[in-house]
Amino acid sequence: MKKLALHWQILLGMVLGVLFAMVMTQFEWGNDFVSDWIKPFGNIFINSLKLIAVPLILASLIKGVSDLKDISKLSKMGGRTIATYIITTVIAVTIGLAVVNIIQPGKSITQETRTQLVESYKGDADSKIAAAEEQKQAGPLKALEDLVPSNIFKAASDNGNMLQVIFFAIFFGIGLILIPEDKAKPVKDFFDGFNEVILKLIDIIMLAAPYGVFALLAALIVEAPSADLFKALSWYAFSVLLGLGLMMAVYAGIVFIFTKRTPKFFFNGISPAQLLAFSTSSSAATLPVTMERVEEHLGVDEEVTSFVLPIGATINMDGTSLYQAVAAVFIAQAFGMDLSLSAQLGIIATATLASIGSAAVPGAGMVMLVIVLAQAGIPEAGLALIFAVDRPLDMCRTTVNVTGDAAVTMLVAKSVGKLGEPKAKDWDDNYKK
Ligand code: ASP
Repeated sequence: MKKLALHWQILLGMVLGVLFAMVMTQFEWGNDFVSDWIKPFGNIFINSLKLIAVPLILASLIKGVSDLKDISKLSKMGGRTIATYIITTVIAVTIGLAVVNIIQPGKSITQETRTQLVESYKGDADSKIAAAEEQKQAGPLKALEDLVPSNIFKAASDNGNMLQVIFFAIFFGIGLILIPEDKAKPVKDFFDGFNEVILKLIDIIMLAAPYGVFALLAALIVEAPSADLFKALSWYAFSVLLGLGLMMAVYAGIVFIFTKRTPKFFFNGISPAQLLAFSTSSSAATLPVTMERVEEHLGVDEEVTSFVLPIGATINMDGTSLYQAVAAVFIAQAFGMDLSLSAQLGIIATATLASIGSAAVPGAGMVMLVIVLAQAGIPEAGLALIFAVDRPLDMCRTTVNVTGDAAVTMLVAKSVGKLGEPKAKDWDDNYKK
């Protein structure tokens, strides 16, 4: 029998996970069973992905930068990468604002639902507000200051410090370009080999992906809040989803216009990473797979993926910025506030910055939303309104975040002449070995 392609296997794992959990919730002991005996396997899967994120960034970026051979190439690619990331994020926020202003989901929230939601989720919202408080206290240059680690081992020991690791890797790579070749060679060879090992580990981990996502989704279902709350928020959720859908179309469009690659090719190539982003709600955990897919299946040279994708996973979050725009205006509407044009333009700026500042982990976008709300003068307590549906929306926005990184990587690759034919001809070439 022909083996099922990886993305189908993952999809099957997801569907079976949901069905399994739905059956389990019918039994009194079902929820505990899933939490105690199924969920840990999901955690093991996510941990194994996170485990290789830091070594992967180190090895691939050091190799990537040192392969560039001269600094001008690096600054050219760096400039284009950052510019394209910012442009796509601004497009995303604008789409979010347009959708939420047209649909006006907040207007359909009754006073009663609002009180009920605020009461049920007050505690959860407070903890997010407290987390955001620390960020708000910081001075304007804090983000820049945080970029430079004072100790690389300390930075590398925390997955939340990805940008610091990226900084070190680029810096190290630059050093490697500048020293004599005979001295640089053994160091480069080491990182080359190291990189290969990490890529192999990703292949191995991906073999477990269908089982991992089964466990992750089953655990999510048994922990989900009641369906009634979902209903009250359905227009809001619909607005976010519509915006995210439009953003996907934007990616397909720009990839087609600038690289002549069809949407089918693009989505076929990236789909396992999308499914993983959906199941894990973490761009950082998905990064190893995104890199592998963009390189092997979308035909982008390693020189570009190793530089553009780790940066994208940490700073380019189009889905998150779009969601923040929709959520902010939704909350304002629900509280009966009318936002002026200048307040909405302010949201474009803060949501863009807030999405750059969001960590690539589940729920991070919501913490940073507090800052967008504060800036626009919208009550922070409104966070409690949207809590019930945040996790499913997080799954969807993370999928868009990852897709956006891949699309931009293709554009940058094309602009520096590093977009070729995919190495893996067959869908799952890598996983078959
Ligand atoms: N979970 C998202 C990500 O990792 C961030 C967010 O919460 O929006 O990309």
